Amino acid sequence: MPKDPFSNEQTYFALQEVERTNLAAQENQAIQLEAAREREKQLHFMKCPKCGQPLQEISVGAVRVDKCSACEGFWLEKGELEAIQKEEGGFLANLFSVFH
Ligand SMILES: [Zn+2]
Repeated sequence: MPKDPFSNEQTYFALQEVERTNLAAQENQAIQLEAAREREKQLHFMKCPKCGQPLQEISVGAVRVDKCSACEGFWLEKGELEAIQKEEGGFLANLFSVFH
């Protein structure tokens, strides 16, 4: 019967090395992903998602929303639509109830 070319000890260390390499690759991938997210944020922060021009914060009642300086589109963050709806009540509440 042919002898296994690797001893149990060699196999153990080889597997440990593979695991270390995989972990290092995963950590490196996570760092790269975070760097890519940061680059995207730097490029797009407070820029209109439609035309790419700067956004300006304006007040709509008590709520601050982002308005494009070029195409005049409005962009709402999480909870802002509900805040405007709550403040305004009547017409918008009725309009939105159609979609729920
Ligand atoms: Zn725009």
